[in-house]
Amino acid sequence: MTKAALPPIRITRIEVAPLFGESPKGGWSAEIKPEDSIHALIAVHTDAGLVGHGSVFTDGRLVQAGVQVLEPLWRGENALEPERVSEKLHQNTFWMGRGGTLTHTISGIDIALWDILGQATGMPVGRLLGGTYATRVLPYCSLLMEEPALMGEVVAQYRAQGFRAFKIGWGPFGRRDSYANDEAIIRAARDAAGPNNKLFVDPGASDANWPNGLKWALRTADMLANYDIGWFEEALRPDAIDDFCHLRRHSPVPIAGGEVLTRRQAFLPWLQRGAFDIIQPDVTKCGGISEQRRIAWMADDFGVKYVGHGWNTALGLAADLQLAAALPNVDLVEYIGGSPYVDGILETPFVLDSEGYLPIPESPGLGVHLSREKLARFTPDPGVLFAS
Ligand SMILES: [Mg+2]
Repeated sequence: MTKAALPPIRITRIEVAPLFGESPKGGWSAEIKPEDSIHALIAVHTDAGLVGHGSVFTDGRLVQAGVQVLEPLWRGENALEPERVSEKLHQNTFWMGRGGTLTHTISGIDIALWDILGQATGMPVGRLLGGTYATRVLPYCSLLMEEPALMGEVVAQYRAQGFRAFKIGWGPFGRRDSYANDEAIIRAARDAAGPNNKLFVDPGASDANWPNGLKWALRTADMLANYDIGWFEEALRPDAIDDFCHLRRHSPVPIAGGEVLTRRQAFLPWLQRGAFDIIQPDVTKCGGISEQRRIAWMADDFGVKYVGHGWNTALGLAADLQLAAALPNVDLVEYIGGSPYVDGILETPFVLDSEGYLPIPESPGLGVHLSREKLARFTPDPGVLFAS
């Protein structure tokens, strides 16, 4: 084994490929259309020929603008130093929209830089983050809420595919002014999931004009407890920190949230004040792997459980899997059911094992490989993502 230090690998260009054409519904009141771009892939190219890949949960046009604005800061940087380079990008754009498009864009760049460091050193990102606690993790299948009869059918369909944990969210839940209809949805999902599989509930109160408040959340939490629901996610408007603290203290069901927060600094008051039992940062928005690792460890220090939310593309999921490997006690990862951006862009798609778990890739970097041919369905110029 050579003991020579790796020379720097310089960033030469960063390319963005917006995904659209088959964007899955989000359950939003202004529903996502298939032709909308809400996710973009990023490729960081280097003078060594290595290319790293990342993913951003934001409109591709914003990501393209973000990469352009950041260019004087990343051009020529050493691609083998993800945390330092990402922090440089954060610090030097503090006054230009921190937490928004630039933070989202940096998230994708950061994921790609970790991918490059892994490729250059021959190690999976999880090991580079400090060590491997797990070799597989249970994916929970994330599904949109439906009216009761259809809800049961949908959960049954994904159970038949091998999933052993489910989350149902958004859609009609909490939006019909009917506790009876909400309960009927939960009952149908629990019946279809079976008594021994996990079931989580996410009303999606970060939707525009969420109509309910604390009293609804408290009453609904009591109902959910009767169906052995594992957590109650985004049950209140995303800025209602006082009500979240109250809900957590009084709910019999664990309270989850945090997918809309970005930057580690934004998570601190929610942890200090005890707003959540489970925190769910999104690696494709919050600042990337560097930032999410720090958020997850900070949560661990507060005794708060961490579950990643990078479900939106195969690369977001790949980053979450590496983080799951590198942190103690991560037993779940989000997996959106039936999205072509997760199931349809890799050369070798993710496959559940016989017990419904996802193996965590052990090959260098993120351990997954984009397919140029498959991506041609979802982005006009997939070639920008690959070494020429
Ligand atoms: Mg959610």
